[in-house]
Amino acid sequence: VAKILDGKALAKKFQTEIEARTRALKEEGKRPPGLAVILVGSNPASKSYVGMKEKAAKACGFETFDSFLPENSSEADVAQAIKDFNENPAIDGILLQLPLPAHLDANGLIDLIDPTKDVDGLHPISQGLLMRGEAVLKPCTPLGVTRLIDLALCEKDLHAEDFKLEDLGEASLAGKKALVAGRSVLVGKPAALLLLERNATVCIAHSKTPDMEKLVNEADIVVAAIGKAELIQGAWLKEGAIVIDVGITKVSEGDRSGKIIGDVHFESAIGRACAITPVPGGVGPMTVAMLMHNTFLSYEVRQQE
Ligand code: NAD
Repeated sequence: VAKILDGKALAKKFQTEIEARTRALKEEGKRPPGLAVILVGSNPASKSYVGMKEKAAKACGFETFDSFLPENSSEADVAQAIKDFNENPAIDGILLQLPLPAHLDANGLIDLIDPTKDVDGLHPISQGLLMRGEAVLKPCTPLGVTRLIDLALCEKDLHAEDFKLEDLGEASLAGKKALVAGRSVLVGKPAALLLLERNATVCIAHSKTPDMEKLVNEADIVVAAIGKAELIQGAWLKEGAIVIDVGITKVSEGDRSGKIIGDVHFESAIGRACAITPVPGGVGPMTVAMLMHNTFLSYEVRQQE
């Protein structure tokens, strides 16, 4: 039976460490890291994500800033909020919650974020540096995916009392075949780049890929970022595969109505995988923790300037 990759517990470890480091900064009389969030409109899922991120930032001891703009805001309104946050020296990270209402040009607005404050890793400069393999703030969800793979390969038990984040290590994936299902700019493509950086042999599947089952069956690591509930069956998996399930689908009918379900059929996968993330409680909390990690990193770089 697969090891369950407890993203919630791992995220907590990261956040506890960041909180302790922030506390030490404050004791030295320094300002804490600052995270700013911009939410346009009232999409309930986006509101809930922003709420979770702000809560985590506060728990880490960060100063938080927000700009909640109405659904019918103009591009100039959002641009102004970004500009104000860019210029504010107390802010190290700016998060523009996506998706934006359809009348706004998301890419055009992301381009306005100061790349050094781009804690989501979505600015073209951040993406270009990632492509070149240079030091950069890495996108939160793909970064969380790599840390969950590290957890899968970590010999120490996350729930052991003496587990430390240093125990996690950054595993080399040389010789391992990784399949990333999904090619979005937000998740699939950067996840594939991060796995390449770790020397995995990476295959990217997408909506036009025939015979996904065969590709899944060849993979030592499966990262599912599709958004189609339980598309990947346990029987497709190679015995002993590591499975990271990014997908989120909210069930709207039947006896599981209201539940959140991943892209992998968990019950059948658990018997074949060596390690698997639950949904919820896997990638989601790690995405939030990596946002805190990036904000802290951005702060440290800014302090050195
Ligand atoms: P997206 O809709 O932009 O991309 C989906 C990708 O899946 C596309 O690249 C598409 O080509 C591919 N795809 C569609 N059908 C397929 C099929 N049958 N076989 C293989 N590939 C197929 O979505 P996204 O933003 O990349 O997010 C993917 C999923 O991850 C969604 O469910 C989203 O809600 C979830 N997500 C979760 C987190 C988190 O923190 N847990 C963060 C971001 C996204």
